[in-house]
Amino acid sequence: MSVQLAINLARNLNIRLVIKNTGHDFSAKSTGAGSLSLWTHNLKDIRFYDSYHEGSYKGPAFKMGAGVQVFEAYKAARKNNVTIVGGEGRTVGITGGYILGGGHSPLSSIYGMGSDQVLSMEVVTADGQFLTASETSHPELFWALRGGGGSTFGVVTSMVIKAFPKIPVTTLTFVLSTGRDVLVDQFWQTLRAYFQDFIKYTDAGMYSYFSLNALSGNYVWTMQPWFGPNLTKTQFEEITAPFWIATRIIGVDLKPVYKEYDDFYEAWDESFPLESWGTNLQRPGSRLFPRENWENQTKLSETFEAIRYVVDSGGYVLGFNVAPNPKGGYPDSAVNPAWRKAVLHAVDAVTIQFWSSILTYDWSPLWRYVSPGSGAYLSESDYIEPDFQHSFWGNKYERLYKLKKQLDPWDVFYAQNAVGSEDFQMSENVFGILPSQNSRLCRRKPDPLRSSAVPDFRRTYIDPIVFIWTMTECEKLLQFDDG
Ligand SMILES: Cc1cc2nc3c(=O)[nH]c(=O)nc-3n(C[C@H](O)[C@H](O)[C@H](O)COP(=O)(O)OP(=O)(O)OC[C@H]3O[C@@H](n4cnc5c(N)ncnc54)[C@H](O)[C@@H]3O)c2cc1C
Repeated sequence: MSVQLAINLARNLNIRLVIKNTGHDFSAKSTGAGSLSLWTHNLKDIRFYDSYHEGSYKGPAFKMGAGVQVFEAYKAARKNNVTIVGGEGRTVGITGGYILGGGHSPLSSIYGMGSDQVLSMEVVTADGQFLTASETSHPELFWALRGGGGSTFGVVTSMVIKAFPKIPVTTLTFVLSTGRDVLVDQFWQTLRAYFQDFIKYTDAGMYSYFSLNALSGNYVWTMQPWFGPNLTKTQFEEITAPFWIATRIIGVDLKPVYKEYDDFYEAWDESFPLESWGTNLQRPGSRLFPRENWENQTKLSETFEAIRYVVDSGGYVLGFNVAPNPKGGYPDSAVNPAWRKAVLHAVDAVTIQFWSSILTYDWSPLWRYVSPGSGAYLSESDYIEPDFQHSFWGNKYERLYKLKKQLDPWDVFYAQNAVGSEDFQMSENVFGILPSQNSRLCRRKPDPLRSSAVPDFRRTYIDPIVFIWTMTECEKLLQFDDG
C-alpha cells in the first residue's frame, strides 16, 4: 500500500523517485539527491514451498520479499536442504537489483542466470497497480523484469524463485605473483594456459572468480576461488589436468588448495568473504567475452592481450569464467543475449580517479574491438557505457524501450543507464564526464530528426562529447532540496 502511495505521489506531482534496496549498484542507480526514496530493505519475508506449481514447473520454491539479501536467501535454502541460484556477493539484494539485472552466480554454468529461476513477481507499476507478473499473467512485463534492469518497469515487492536439490562442491584456490621465483613471462604463460580451456571448464559446470593486478609492482593473480559445483576433487583434477601439466612445463609451482564440501552453502560461505568497494577501486567497466573467441586461437590471443593491456596500464581486472547457457535451456527474457554466448565476464576497474577517462576511452574500446557484437553486464559496467542500450540488451532494446513507454508513459521510474534513460540528462557532471546524481534530472528536448518511436541511440555512441540534443528546463523537480 505504501509503495502504491509513493508511486502515485511521485507520478502526480512529478517528483523524482528513487528505489533503493541495499545501495550496492555501481552506477549509482539507487541514489538521487532530493528525490523521494523508496527503501525496500526491510521487506524480508521468506517462505518455503516443498512443492510449488507454476506453469510447467512443479518443485521446491521460495517466495522472498524484495529486501532479502544473498546471505539470508542462502541460509534459508540450507535450512530447507535445497540450493538456490544467487550471486557470490553476500550482501547483494537477491530479489532486488540482482535478479532484475539478470544476476550471475557460482551456479550459473549449471542453472543459468538468477533471473532464469523466477516463477512470478509481485510488482507495483507506474500507474499504481499491484500486479502479479508471470508467464501467464502480464507476460510482457514479466519478460522485461527479468534482466531489463531495476527501477524501470515497477517496484517489485516479492518474487517466487525455483530451488534445486542440495549439491556437493569442490573448490580450488591459489595465488601466483611475480618476484624472485616467478618471472614475468612465466606469470603470463601460466595465465594463458588457464585461459586455454575456458569452454571446457564451463561445459563441466564450473565457475571461477579471479583477480589480476600489478598495483604492488609485481603481477598478482589470485584465484578466489575456482568453484566446481557437483564435482568431486578427483573429477576437478581430471578436468584441469592439462593446466597442471602446463604449469610444470612452464616451471611454476602454484600450490593449489583443494577443499571438498557436501553442500553449496558451506562452499560459498568459506569462499566468498564480505567484499568492500569504493575505498581503493573507483570506477568499473566490463565486457562479456564470447565463446567464439576461444574457438579460434588468434582471437583467443587477442582477447588475452586485451586483458593484459589493462593490467599493464595500471588497471585492476576481475574475471568470471562462467557460461549461463545451461544444457537444460533457459526461459526467454530481457537478459542480455551476449550472456548466453559468453565464457568470460571481465570487469576492469580504475584505482585512481585520474584514470577514469582511460577506462572509458582506452581500455573499453580495446575490449569491444576484440569482442564485436557482444555486450556488457549492466549491473557491473561503466557508468557512462557508450551505446549502453545495445551493450546491455543487444537486439532486445527496441522491444524494451517500447514497453517502457507503454507501461510508464509518465517516466515515473528513472535510473542511470536504465531503459528509457536516454530521454533524460543530469544537469551537472563530476570529474568532467560523469553525470552527477546530486544535480537535477532534466528531460531532453525531443529530437526533431527522430523518425520513429525509438530514438537513434547510435548518435550518443558516435559522438558523446558533442551530443546535439539540448536540454529543456528541468521537468523533474528535486522537490526537497530546492531551497
Ligand atoms: C560486493 C558486491 C558483490 C556483487 N556480486 C554480484 C554477483 O555475484 N553477481 C551479480 O550478478 N552481481 C553482483 N553484484 C552486482 C549487483 O547485482 C548489483 O549491484 C545489483 O544492482 C544490486 O542490487 P541491490 O538491490 O542490492 O542494490 P540497489 O543499489 O539498492 O539497487 C540496484 C538497482 O535496482 C533497483 N531496485 C532495487 N530493488 C528494486 C525493486 N524491488 N524494484 C525495482 N527496482 C529495484 C534500484 O533502483 C537500482 O536501480 C555485486 C555488487 C557488489 C557491490
